[in-house]
Amino acid sequence: MSFAVNKNDRIEVQIEDLTHDGAGVAKVDGYPLFIQGALPGETAEVLVLKTLKKYGFAKLMNVLQPAPERVTPPCHVFPTCGGCQLQHLSYEAQLIQKRKSVRDVMDRIAKLPDVPVLEVKGMDDPWRYRNKSQIPFDTENDRVITGFYKSRTHHIVDTDVCLIQTVEADNLMRLLKHKIQQLGIETYDEKTHRGMLRHLIVRKARQTGQVMVVLVTRHKKFPQKDAVVDLIRQEVPEVTSIMQNVNSANTNVIMGNETINLYGENVIIDRIGDTSFEISARSFYQVNPVQTEVLYQQALDYAGLTGNETVIDAYCGIGTISLFLAKQAKEVYGVEIVPQAIQDAKRNAELNGITNTHFEAGAAEEIIPKWYADGKRFDVLVVDPPRKGCDEKLLETILEYKPRKVVYVSCNPGTLARDLRILEDGGYRTKEVQPVDMFPHSSHVECVALLQRETI
Ligand code: SAH
Repeated sequence: MSFAVNKNDRIEVQIEDLTHDGAGVAKVDGYPLFIQGALPGETAEVLVLKTLKKYGFAKLMNVLQPAPERVTPPCHVFPTCGGCQLQHLSYEAQLIQKRKSVRDVMDRIAKLPDVPVLEVKGMDDPWRYRNKSQIPFDTENDRVITGFYKSRTHHIVDTDVCLIQTVEADNLMRLLKHKIQQLGIETYDEKTHRGMLRHLIVRKARQTGQVMVVLVTRHKKFPQKDAVVDLIRQEVPEVTSIMQNVNSANTNVIMGNETINLYGENVIIDRIGDTSFEISARSFYQVNPVQTEVLYQQALDYAGLTGNETVIDAYCGIGTISLFLAKQAKEVYGVEIVPQAIQDAKRNAELNGITNTHFEAGAAEEIIPKWYADGKRFDVLVVDPPRKGCDEKLLETILEYKPRKVVYVSCNPGTLARDLRILEDGGYRTKEVQPVDMFPHSSHVECVALLQRETI
């Protein structure tokens, strides 16, 4: 079969668009070519890498005419490291781009061309925002390397600095990288399933400054543990908790089931607004604390609570949104599929002296129909599902029982748009969509949408 271009062609193209995962798109006689690193408005020389039936991939060789929004990425391993996709685009332009991609799915998938998609709420300082880093180790030519995986691989791109993680994570990554050989600790080798140190995990509570280190090891027996603890305490005094997590399985799941305290507390404590949360080694917790507050505040504003409402928080995780809503609601019912997260949610409610929340472990699409069948009624339903969106059965339950308002928090605009169409067809009206930038320099965008019923 012949295409407009062939593998190994070196051609000049005009970049017309940017995909949802941050690649530039050029069309050669209507045949789309995806080019990582190229920006709309640019003229570029590219090398064709691969041609498929409907589209192909090319490598950016030379930017002949740069876009005005192009900036020099401050990170020296961008774009080889898969962590960020948009560092070559100015932050302002990233926000415009993210709004456009939400607008696009609202038009195309939700068929809602008139629904307002507001300007993306971005960060004043879009660096050093991640409160959790999971850093793998490896040894290459007798040298320890650390960093992050190259996109779609398990190959570590060696670095000492990551500008979206905390300074403490940088310091710990550098410290261990340079000292573990000296301490006689072997890095874990995925291919042979040998060695000891698998991952360094660093979590920081932004509001209290507490830092937790988790060392994920292949064996429980960790002869050098005292030496590592001493070294970390000496060099990074911000650390308040050092945990060992044992993962002996031949898997790419990062943590195993057993966690042992090596030093300090078992948890760190953070606050969102004036609500405190205990975070343990394995707790799920939003990774951008500054924007989490913006996101939750938006959900709270859309919920429009007066103190008389009974609210559901579906997909509640450790109850962060529930506890945020609880202060302004009569009652909040949270449901989440991971039992440990529900235990954390209950514990966090207690910690904050909140008594009007109820948490239940299970699938939202099972538990919510059960609550309704038990005669409970709800005024507002907040959903915050994983990337695949709401379960169909949950959407059917919403359409059957018709809560007045639905606040939909989504990390995937595509599935949000799909679900909005289903709810619209069932009598809801989407009032507004507010995108929030939780992950600057990546191509992800989070949204909060408000839906209301016009008729009962
Ligand atoms: N609202 C929380 C967590 C959102 S992430 C926060 O803001 O922190 C989505 C959550 O949905 C995860 O905790 C995941 O475990 C949970 N989940 C996934 N499928 C589920 C289902 N079918 N029912 C209930 N919870 C589910």
